[in-house]
Amino acid sequence: MNDCIFCKIVSGDIPSYKVYEDDHVYAFLDITQGTKGHTLLIPKKHVPNVYSLDDETAYNVFKTVPKVANALKKAFKPIGLNILNNNDKPLQSVYHFHIHLIPRYEDDGMVISSVNHADDYDEDAFKALQKTIRDAL
Ligand code: 5GP
Ligand code: ZN
Repeated sequence: MNDCIFCKIVSGDIPSYKVYEDDHVYAFLDITQGTKGHTLLIPKKHVPNVYSLDDETAYNVFKTVPKVANALKKAFKPIGLNILNNNDKPLQSVYHFHIHLIPRYEDDGMVISSVNHADDYDEDAFKALQKTIRDAL
């Protein structure tokens, strides 16, 4: 945990452009600024990713998403906003749970694609997926 860069940001050992903080969460500008205002929202508690997020920490982080999202909307008047969270390699690069809030603009170059594979699934295939997930809960 002591090597975690986001824990060091929370403690102030690494500088950041903080936009919001309360007892449980911390929000700051992502260094890459994938789009203008790209912000990361994290729990102050070190939790590696969604798989180990406890209920209270999840509550504290997710309940703050609308506050930061509305601030970004008010501040920059984007055409939309993506909320993104990466878990595990190769998607995740920092193992302290974080939510990306990414304001979107015309021709901003950000690529968050959606793929439609609906044609690959008939009713039985959907039911099999449903059962697999429900059995895993
Ligand atoms: P991930 O790929 O794990 O979802 O995203 C990690 C994010 O953390 C990246 O978007 C990266 O730009 C950001 N990041 C990594 N190191 C730092 C840092 O030291 N300061 C800030 N502000 N952002 C960082
Ligand atoms: Zn950490």
